[in-house]
Amino acid sequence: MKDLNFQKLLKNNHSWIQEKLKNYPDYFEKLSRPQSPRFLMIGCSDSRVPITSLVKAEPGEIFIHRNIANQVNLNDINLLSVLEYSVEHLYIKHIVVIGHYNCGGIAAAVDGVNQGLIENWVSPVNELYFKHIDELSLIKEKNKMCDRLSEINVIEQAHNIIKTPVLQRAFKSGNFPKIHAWIFDIYTGKLIQQNINEEELIEKGLLPDSYFKFNNSKN
Ligand SMILES: [Zn+2]
Repeated sequence: MKDLNFQKLLKNNHSWIQEKLKNYPDYFEKLSRPQSPRFLMIGCSDSRVPITSLVKAEPGEIFIHRNIANQVNLNDINLLSVLEYSVEHLYIKHIVVIGHYNCGGIAAAVDGVNQGLIENWVSPVNELYFKHIDELSLIKEKNKMCDRLSEINVIEQAHNIIKTPVLQRAFKSGNFPKIHAWIFDIYTGKLIQQNINEEELIEKGLLPDSYFKFNNSKN
C-alpha cells in the first residue's frame, strides 16, 4: 500500500481532473447533468471495500450507502431516505447489499463487549450470531466463523431491504428493482453472489409472483 498523505490528496485531485479532460474534454459538462444510476449498493464503511473500484464503475453509475457491517436497519432514516429516493425517483434496477470477509464490524458483534457505540450499531448481528450459533459453533477458526457470519448477515440485510415499505410498494406497482446479496472476498478480490432464497420469499408473499418474469438481464 502506498502512503497517501494529506497534501497528496489535493494534488491527486488535480491530476485526476487532467486525466479525465485529456480523454474526455466534456467529462465534467456531462457529469454535472442529472444522475441516472442503475444500481444502489449498500456496503460496509471499511476502507478496504471501495465499491466503485471493485466493479470498475465511473462517477454517476452507482448510488451508494455505507455503514459499519452494511446494516439495513428499519429505523435508520438515513438508509431509508437513500432507499426511497433511489427506488421512487431514480428508478434504479438493482439493489446490492455487499458484505465482506474479515469485517471488523462482524468481529465486534461476536465479541460483544466494550466496543462503545459500535456495540449498539451491530447488535442485530450479535442476535444473528446467536440465532445461528449451532452452525457457527462448528467452525473452529474464529476468522472463518466470522466470515460465515458475514455471509449470513448480508443475506439477512437483503431480506430487510425486501421487507421495507418502500420495496413492498414497488412490488405492488409492478415496477421494482431486483435485490442481491454479495460478499467481497477480501483475500482474493472476488465478489461472490449469495443465495437469498427468492422462491421462499415469493411463497411467503414478500416478493411478488412476477419477480422472475421481469427480465432485467440487459439492465
Ligand atoms: Zn466491514
